[in-house]
Amino acid sequence: MLRALTRLLLGRRDVAQLELGLHGGTPHNADELLVRLRQLGLRRIMRCRLTRNRNVMVSFGAGELRVHEGYLSAPESVLRAIVVFVEGRSRAERRDAQRIIVAHPVRSPRPAARRERTHPGDVEFAAQLTAWHARYNARHFQSRLKPIEIRVSRRMKMRLGHYTAATTGGETAEIAISLAHLRKHGWQETLHTLLHEMVHQWQDETGHTIDHAATFRAKARAVGIAPYARRVLASRPGTADGFKTLGRRAARKG
Ligand SMILES: [Zn+2]
Repeated sequence: MLRALTRLLLGRRDVAQLELGLHGGTPHNADELLVRLRQLGLRRIMRCRLTRNRNVMVSFGAGELRVHEGYLSAPESVLRAIVVFVEGRSRAERRDAQRIIVAHPVRSPRPAARRERTHPGDVEFAAQLTAWHARYNARHFQSRLKPIEIRVSRRMKMRLGHYTAATTGGETAEIAISLAHLRKHGWQETLHTLLHEMVHQWQDETGHTIDHAATFRAKARAVGIAPYARRVLASRPGTADGFKTLGRRAARKG
């Protein structure tokens, strides 16, 4: 009943009465979460979807907000931060909000999928990448980046590599590099991807958002790599799907 009512009302402007009814309560689904966020000042979003991708916390675009289901039980301060992430005017305001959102421990009822292991045949390749990580760390980051597991992936096809931040649940941070990328583009390009992922590691370890925005571009230029998410730029600029996303992973694409 409440769900149907929510749907009905959300299409129009007059959600005030329903909002009053929900005030202070914990939302149980996407519609109730949207009502709650609107109480807290959300304006430009018309639809809300819950997601289970553990690497994405919040993303929005085209009037739709996607939120990881682990945020249903988030305290009001975190929900307020989601509103600011969407509606915030200044960069500083949004950055503070992002920190609050990312710091919220996301617990999903589903267990995490097991991380792929480096194939025995690729262990030597992973060791070479680890040696280059140490070299680049000294050369470009004053050796301040933490040692990190570098995994070689045989599954990764569309992406060249990615950096994934650690979770509060005990999953460690990692850099993964695509084996197909090495075979197709060669060692120099693969090292370029490694350094790209190290810039994401630097973002994570210095409290920046893991993305390809201004901070990424500045640091990428400083270490001498292309400041783009993609290896080959599309003829038209802009993000692939027009969504602004806040997550714990960023990938370099082919
Ligand atoms: Zn990237």
